[in-house]
Amino acid sequence: MDKLQDLPHVWRACLELALEGYNAGSLGIAAVITDKANRIIAWGRNQLSDNLDSCSSIRMSSVAHAEINALHNLPQAYQGNRELTLYTTVEPCPMCLGAVAMSRVRSIKVGCADPHAGATNLLTQNDYLRRKRIAVSFEGGAVEKLCFVLHYVSIKGRLGHNPHHPILVKIKKRYPHYVHTIDAYVESSSIFSPGRLTYDSLHSVLARMS
Ligand SMILES: [Zn+2]
Repeated sequence: MDKLQDLPHVWRACLELALEGYNAGSLGIAAVITDKANRIIAWGRNQLSDNLDSCSSIRMSSVAHAEINALHNLPQAYQGNRELTLYTTVEPCPMCLGAVAMSRVRSIKVGCADPHAGATNLLTQNDYLRRKRIAVSFEGGAVEKLCFVLHYVSIKGRLGHNPHHPILVKIKKRYPHYVHTIDAYVESSSIFSPGRLTYDSLHSVLARMS
């Protein structure tokens, strides 16, 4: 079985932050930026709906997305550095992708795809973005599963658990096995209640998805 403690430290940091966001009532999405030596130099999480004193400097606003906050928190000394990598638990939306393009970050590592708002396809379809030469890679394995869990239960909670909602239909089409497993678990357990989900309890979720 995949083990949480075996995850790379950068992804652990992202997941712990995404978990904080989910439990605080925002979406369970987080991002960090690393330097060439893989040290984390900036943090950000989705803070659309909570005012917790966390790492995010932009809160309670429609632009309070994880990647925007991570970029906004980037120290001045790194603003011109072209060897930075942005790790994000969920594929960036058009706004966040645009913000990356306007920064000097030229590498994005994505935890799981977002079939609804994900916009990495613009990097090849839009001439301006294509010239930025931003490299994107998608994770697999335990990282993808855990990032998906936090994103999916966040969206599902907001949409009132209606399985026919167009957004949930899109997600299910992209990740049918994960959705099936988590839906069954949600019905039999209360571990996903916002405010009660723990990093350790994600272990049992991961075991069911293996
Ligand atoms: Zn975004």
